[in-house]
Amino acid sequence: MTAPETPRATETHCPYCSLQCGMRVSPRGRGQGLEIGAWAAFPVNEGALCRKGWTAGELRGSRERLTSPLVRDRATGALRTAEWDEALDLIAERLRAVQAAHGPDGVAVFGGGGLTNEKAYQLGKLARVALGTSQIDYNGRWCMSSAASAGNQAFGIDRGLPFPLADVEQADVVVLVGSNLAETMPPAARHLDRLRERGGRLVVIDPRITPTAERADLALQPVPGTDLALALGVLHLLDAQGAVDEEYVAARTTGFDAVRRSVAAWWPERVERVTGIATDELRALVAVLAGADRVIVLTARGPEQHAQGTATVLAWINVALALGMPGRPYAGYGCLTGQGNGQGGREHGQKADQLPGYRMIDDPDARAHVAAVWGVDPESLPGKGRSAYELLDSLGQDGGARALLVFGSNVVVSAPNATHVTERLEALDLLVVCDLVMSETAALADVVLPVTQWAEETGTMTNLEGRVILRRQAVAPPRGVRSDLDVIAGIAERMGAPVPFATDPEEVFAELGRASAGGRADYSGISYDRITAEQGVFWGAERMFADGFATPDGRARFVVTDFVGAAEQPDASYPVHLTTGRVLAQYQSGAQTRRIRSLPDEGAFVELHPMLADRIGARDGEPVVVRTRRGELRAPARVVASIRPDTVFVPFHWVGANRLTNDALDPSSRMPEFKVCAAQVVV
Ligand code: SF4
Repeated sequence: MTAPETPRATETHCPYCSLQCGMRVSPRGRGQGLEIGAWAAFPVNEGALCRKGWTAGELRGSRERLTSPLVRDRATGALRTAEWDEALDLIAERLRAVQAAHGPDGVAVFGGGGLTNEKAYQLGKLARVALGTSQIDYNGRWCMSSAASAGNQAFGIDRGLPFPLADVEQADVVVLVGSNLAETMPPAARHLDRLRERGGRLVVIDPRITPTAERADLALQPVPGTDLALALGVLHLLDAQGAVDEEYVAARTTGFDAVRRSVAAWWPERVERVTGIATDELRALVAVLAGADRVIVLTARGPEQHAQGTATVLAWINVALALGMPGRPYAGYGCLTGQGNGQGGREHGQKADQLPGYRMIDDPDARAHVAAVWGVDPESLPGKGRSAYELLDSLGQDGGARALLVFGSNVVVSAPNATHVTERLEALDLLVVCDLVMSETAALADVVLPVTQWAEETGTMTNLEGRVILRRQAVAPPRGVRSDLDVIAGIAERMGAPVPFATDPEEVFAELGRASAGGRADYSGISYDRITAEQGVFWGAERMFADGFATPDGRARFVVTDFVGAAEQPDASYPVHLTTGRVLAQYQSGAQTRRIRSLPDEGAFVELHPMLADRIGARDGEPVVVRTRRGELRAPARVVASIRPDTVFVPFHWVGANRLTNDALDPSSRMPEFKVCAAQVVV
């Protein structure tokens, strides 16, 4: 939908997903939220917004906004209001006590993929410089870390899309693996429509026929957790049919011979047995790919959120490389990031293994460079910490942290095996949560700090294309609310940080630029003025890999991948697959969107096929119970023919879905297996 122009409003960007749609924002009357209008000149969304963006201003006027720090009263156990100094002093006092008893790693920091680049950068600095802890990671680990790991291995660099999203329109074939783009980022779906208007073809691979798959020329519904086997089968047939671009493979890649041998046994009948994709469907897909000059393969959470997520993405990259696509105009491989700053959030130091500029924390040169910018001794910087789930799993345990600072994340809803994670949070000596509203995680906290939301502050985000954009402040924050940058500086100062922590976003961004200079994600040439003048600035080239890949020899790497299958397979007790995902009107854990009255808050539901419904006696709209080895959820059934008969689907925006999900981790990315586990469903 395109909103009306509001010419005197502030040009900024949506608070939610990685498309970071441009919008115009202006204040309404006091307590009445914000007016959202179109910013037609911003190229990514051309004025279009989905209903989440269109209604985003409502939270501003909501009574559910937190406007005062809250501190848990030890006598009553209830949260009470507190002054900022009291809350920050208390946090510092208790952090010092925890570190005195348990050492620097007794304190952990958990960030978010929705935080601005400036906040992500300052969080990393807070952990390493002010707290001296190695224990920092963020919820973006659960977003696209498998694609990041695969991109680094194959191309030597990780940028979600190495080309503008609009390139999709100019391709001959687009293969969407596990993306429901039409619901998760609707304005992006116009690129698919234009592709098809041009005569290009769309292939969608998803266990459900989603609104995205309904647009497809070819929709394949594999068994959840078998995308890797499907990719092996595709490459097997491409090779058998002589459709491999041998010239490209010889000139621009390494490692193909080993991959060619590894896919030799993935003949179509075997692929059908594993994936459920009939041999004629597989051959149809291969025929579409083999005849195309420009193929774009895009992955999203579907193939990535698996214990074999990195291998699965690598297998699809192998397909793209064998076709000779990466680096060719309007062709290649890309990942559709999910969270608003899923890309930038992992480039500036809130990831356990990284320093700003996408530098690895165990690289002595990287440590020396960043330490010099920070004005500290490189020897003082801690090393690599635990990944997001492992960090949470270790809380309160031997060697785990006893105090946790959470910024921009609602792990009680969004973590896998969420009941277990909640128990770990409850075992902490101190839980501090910074949020706009009383999220399910904030409700457990000892201290809750109310922070600004998107239109109340300035800062940069990096969208799914690697385009750095500027969210501009449109209105003053409510009285009593502070920016996360102020909170970070306040804690750092009280913890005796040896260097200052800036709170002005532009100043922080300039420091981030110096810290990232020369790194893999180098922001040193980007400024707020340049972003404004150019309506966003790509870090690196707008279209990457035309002249070579970011590997030492400039060639992309084929990587051999073996199919193992999901960590949990259906059995007599848990006979169906459970998969999870999103609905159009809600975003991530729903902490924001569930509080927007104009958006339908339908609650969790269980989607299942009529054959499965018949078998268990379920009726549409009536409750069913889904159980896994970790928990159960009771919710209304939605009986639809668009899902595989052996699979049930639950959206994850409400408490419950992630009490079911599996915490098996990918060995490379440490991504949990959100997307598939074994389940039983009963009435
Ligand atoms: Fe655009 Fe995503 Fe916001 Fe919707 S949620 S308006 S697609 S940025």
